[in-house]
Amino acid sequence: MSNQAWLERSFAAVWHPCTQMKRHERLPIVPIASADGVWLTDFDGKRYLDGVSSWWVNLFGHGHPRIKQAVREQLDRLEHVMLAGFTHRPVVELSERLAKLSGLGHAFYGSDGASATEIALKMSFHYWKNLGRPQKSRFVSLENSYHGETVGALAVTDVPLFSSTYAELLKPGLRAPSPDARQAGPGESAADVALRAVRSMENLLAKHGGEIAAVIVEPLVQGAAGMAMYDPVYLTELRRLCDRYEVHLIADEIAVGFGRSGSFFAYQQAGVTPDFLCLSKGITGGFLPLSCVLTRDEIYQAFYHDDVTRGFLHSHSYTGNALACAAALAVLDIFEDENVLEANRLKAADFTERMRPLIKRPEIRHFRHQGMIWAFDVETSRADFALAYFSAMLKRGCLLRPIGKSVYFMPPYTLKPEEMDWLVAAGVDALDEVLAGESAGGDATPLP
Ligand SMILES: *Cc1c(COP(=O)(O)O)cnc(C)c1O
Repeated sequence: MSNQAWLERSFAAVWHPCTQMKRHERLPIVPIASADGVWLTDFDGKRYLDGVSSWWVNLFGHGHPRIKQAVREQLDRLEHVMLAGFTHRPVVELSERLAKLSGLGHAFYGSDGASATEIALKMSFHYWKNLGRPQKSRFVSLENSYHGETVGALAVTDVPLFSSTYAELLKPGLRAPSPDARQAGPGESAADVALRAVRSMENLLAKHGGEIAAVIVEPLVQGAAGMAMYDPVYLTELRRLCDRYEVHLIADEIAVGFGRSGSFFAYQQAGVTPDFLCLSKGITGGFLPLSCVLTRDEIYQAFYHDDVTRGFLHSHSYTGNALACAAALAVLDIFEDENVLEANRLKAADFTERMRPLIKRPEIRHFRHQGMIWAFDVETSRADFALAYFSAMLKRGCLLRPIGKSVYFMPPYTLKPEEMDWLVAAGVDALDEVLAGESAGGDATPLP
């Protein structure tokens, strides 16, 4: 069957995520038949370089043989067993290894990033309640934050496009300024901006600390804000404030964990440890849905009691799914055996160098880079820039989805030098086309 046939059937039967479906009257859905490495192939044989690791999940590209093999072997033994009252090898080994990597002793599982956010928020609140402090029931999030789309997670998400429609359903929280380094004034460093945001946070915690359970942040990079990056000193100071005002620090590393930020976990660059760590996306290398919340043993102990209701009575049917855990173990094996962090450091320096033809363009503002993430803003009056650039890149065989006027690259770690050059050349070419063109009008909905 051809692309056309699949896209028509999809349009008729599938409600696609994060999409005004009517847009697909003009913008065709892309049916993918197969994928290998960084390449996606459609039903007409056209290839696309997956420059965003399929929404940031396929760390090592598509169909990585080692992850595939691990899932296959697990399939022959045990595909799933409920985790309430039962356990199995992959979930035990994964929990042990994540504890060792993070310094957080207990792992609780969900299936998607948003479920990890929900778990962390509920656990934090419940911890304080178990300690006899139920008034600590509010959460602080940052401006332009993104923590998922379920009702609890959306309440700590500051992307009005996603949240304002549902405002009546969301429990109001507290919002603190973002340390986004793009706010630097003349002569100001990223650290200056971060310290300014720390002072605002301190005022907020000093005033409301008694009613706050936790502060939730995306360490170093606010992904959905258009890859807003900030100085690690923010996290160092935030940890100090959280300790001082007895508030939990939740690190949402759903996007930046597993080496994306340059270190295995982004918070490690600030020399701190959070109270809760949310992981998902790259955890299985894009093979299966899995999320995880790790927490300190002392927090775990506050739930450990003869009273059932002091326990964390939260569950998802697929909690700790064996196939997903086997994929995650294979991801950790790859990190260990292939020295991925070190290899990425060299690769990142190389890609930054090769990106010159693109970032030297006069329309480019705020070029930024952290680990295996690159981003810049484009000065343009085109309100439809994101959609136009996405389309122009797609035509050239590249999958890039700008957020507003921020273009970002979040490629699989397996990207080769010739693919980098090709991606950059396409990027320059597409920019020429889009900036020369006229706005097609319509809304400026970002493509997260
Ligand atoms: C993607 C993302 C989430 C939500 O994860 P889903 O799997 O899409 O529910 C939460 N937080 C951050 C930082 C994310 O990037």
